[in-house]
Amino acid sequence: MGADDIVQGMRATPEAQARLLEVQVEDSAKDRVEHRKRSLPEHAQINAGKVEWAQVNKDLVGSETLVGDTRIELEKAEADLVPVRERIARNQKRVDDGLVGAKELAPMIEEIAHLKQRILNLEDIQLEVMERLETATAELAALQKRRGELQKSIRAVMAHRDEQLAELDAELAGHSQKRDGLAAGIPADLLALYDRIRGRSGGVGAAKLEGKRCSGCQLEATAAAVTRYQSAPKDEVLRCEDCDRILVR
Ligand SMILES: [Zn+2]
Repeated sequence: MGADDIVQGMRATPEAQARLLEVQVEDSAKDRVEHRKRSLPEHAQINAGKVEWAQVNKDLVGSETLVGDTRIELEKAEADLVPVRERIARNQKRVDDGLVGAKELAPMIEEIAHLKQRILNLEDIQLEVMERLETATAELAALQKRRGELQKSIRAVMAHRDEQLAELDAELAGHSQKRDGLAAGIPADLLALYDRIRGRSGGVGAAKLEGKRCSGCQLEATAAAVTRYQSAPKDEVLRCEDCDRILVR
């Protein structure tokens, strides 16, 4: 027993008490709509989409860095070839122009052979870097595609969520309007008591006494309680002995 003790023995017309049950119907309907709003599967889908969105963006940064770094590596591999090719051309021209003396000719031919091998090695490196750049570029393109698809799908789910929320809000507004109309005919103290009990009793503040059973907690009243309920004046606001809810006869 709490602060409501003071209002035990509250009086209200049977009509006002009965109207409380109608208010309860609307409040329960509102609670169900609120629950539907909260439990739309789109909420979880959007959250999962946002997690993936963050991951894709993070992966994209890594992928762009890799492509950039590999491009620099390829430029370096290409640049490394230039002086070797120039040197081989210069040497070859000297040989062809007959500018190399008999003594120098053998070492020069040997150097040219050595430079040709060096070019083969550098071209292998260049090819290997090109292959890596191709892979990295393909991965980047796939991530960009995934990012675009993800953005589209998140937007679609959000639009669907908003559509449903708008429908549910309209339903909610209908129940609220009906509830407010009904509540207008109920004394303020009774309505306040109902709201307090509702707040602490899982959304149900007023229940109907059906035979011996309270429709709030579904328990049957004791014989003594039934006698008390029956002997109470019609305008006395009864409370369930088990769940403390307002019990409407
Ligand atoms: Zn009860």
